[in-house]
Amino acid sequence: MSDNLTKPEDLRIGVFVCECGLNIAGTVDCDALSKYSETLEDVVAVIQNKYTCADPGQNEIKKAIVEHNLNRVVVASCTPKIHEPTFRQCVADVGLNPYLFEMVNIREHVSWVHQNEKEAATEKAKDLIRSGVARSRFLEPQIESVVPVTKAALVVGGGISGIQAALDLADGGHKVYLVEKEATIGGIMAAIDKTYPTMDCSI
Ligand code: SF4
Repeated sequence: MSDNLTKPEDLRIGVFVCECGLNIAGTVDCDALSKYSETLEDVVAVIQNKYTCADPGQNEIKKAIVEHNLNRVVVASCTPKIHEPTFRQCVADVGLNPYLFEMVNIREHVSWVHQNEKEAATEKAKDLIRSGVARSRFLEPQIESVVPVTKAALVVGGGISGIQAALDLADGGHKVYLVEKEATIGGIMAAIDKTYPTMDCSI
């Protein structure tokens, strides 16, 4: 399938396939993923690592960015929840805007949930990498900045959730305005006589 989408610029995409030891490589054919990634349009570098988040893996990314003049980086590894900040910092270390980085989850979304289906898992991982490469085409550099904010919050609704949110915000040092349209707070909870399992009065 072609990745022939509108190009915002001359793209030079690097794809990094992580084996995660046997976490990914035990189920997914990583060599096949690397070969497949090489066929994707605008991909100019494909590197496979045992542990991409470890220092040697990150160094490979940095080296490839410089050597191949990459302007997009796609890492196929685990959930972005764990290592997206790691890789954003990694690419930023060599001058690439961290928002030109894209992460593809071939561990939690593939190897861990398709452990007995190596062939199908590999095909699914290829699809996800192709999608990640396609997404990376439309990434734009972002500039982070710090702006002054008023440390106050408005909570609309004085039911049990609103009250708890207001208390949590206040505990975090914010001035809180709690707004309730009824004459009393407590919402539906205030109308309940007893609550399970202690059978205490609800208020
Ligand atoms: S980047 Fe994620 S998938 Fe790769 S070695 Fe590290 S934890 Fe494992």
